[in-house]
Amino acid sequence: MKSPSPQDYIDGVRSQDRRAISKTITLIESALPAHREMAREIIEALLPYSGQAIRLGITGVPGGGKSTFIESLGMELIAQGHHVAVLAVDPSSSLSGGSVMADKTRMEKLAVEPNAFIRPSPSGGTLGGVASKTRETMLICEAAGYDVIIVETVGVGQSEITVASMVDFFLVLMLAGAGDELQGIKKGVLELADAIAVNKADGDNVDKARKAARIYEMALHLLRPASLSWSPPVLTCSALEMTGITEIWQTVLSHRNNLSSIGELELKRRGQALDWMEALIEERLKERFHKNPDVQKALPRITRAVGQGKMAPTIAAQKLLFFLDNNPIV
Ligand code: GDP
Repeated sequence: MKSPSPQDYIDGVRSQDRRAISKTITLIESALPAHREMAREIIEALLPYSGQAIRLGITGVPGGGKSTFIESLGMELIAQGHHVAVLAVDPSSSLSGGSVMADKTRMEKLAVEPNAFIRPSPSGGTLGGVASKTRETMLICEAAGYDVIIVETVGVGQSEITVASMVDFFLVLMLAGAGDELQGIKKGVLELADAIAVNKADGDNVDKARKAARIYEMALHLLRPASLSWSPPVLTCSALEMTGITEIWQTVLSHRNNLSSIGELELKRRGQALDWMEALIEERLKERFHKNPDVQKALPRITRAVGQGKMAPTIAAQKLLFFLDNNPIV
């Protein structure tokens, strides 16, 4: 049987053939140069069909209810006629050898819905590499007609910043603690949030969740500069009992309306495209550097010399980068 051509993949994605979509994503995730080349061609051809979806990022601590929440929201959106793709950015597999997000049965109901597409995080590699593949996967899903793309992440390292930089709306799921909410807030996450939702607001936990929401509200007021187009609300929900989910989706939609009406959504996406380009350049430069045979030969010796204080870091960097200048096409 002849192997599929780029056009076969493109046609498969455009006709919403799930197997073709999966295979295209596998191609994107492949490290083989021939696959990469083909993936680039496919992405370029599909680019004009992408960009129409609502891109929603979700973060929260492990056990905070992300999968349960995404399943509840996803089922509601599908009931409304949406096509939902769920992607993940989980660089932990390359940090610890084990993934925080992959090894449990997740979203069982959503997984069997014909109008839902769930794809686990690309594994291995740097956060930059994982993120870049997820961005490309997002374009493929959009070209395949998914009109809501949910990108899930955990608060590992920089992954929240990375996901916030590829979506239109970034939702932070929180839990009610024992009144020590602010200590538990990860530095920086408030600046990223377009909304906070305190989850597990059910049973005995309702009051606690409401109190926590008020504390987060105050923190947001204090810590964020006022914006004319959007002030992030704090909501409560129960992913398990499916309460508060509709309100959160309404929030996503009004954010979209607000930003679109003043042209900010377009600006945000353009800015994200430029950031993506920068990130790709950095990633590729690093890759070229580490693959350069002269660098590979000299790196251990130079690293040792810097470590022992025998060579200045500036000189070392200059010597190593010189190999790239001398070998520009590697
Ligand atoms: P994730 O690690 O963030 O994806 O969290 P999960 O969705 O796997 O949820 C972790 C645990 O919390 C599971 O046992 C869920 O059943 C439970 N859980 C999730 N959402 C809620 C909720 O709204 N209320 C309650 N009571 N439990 C929940």
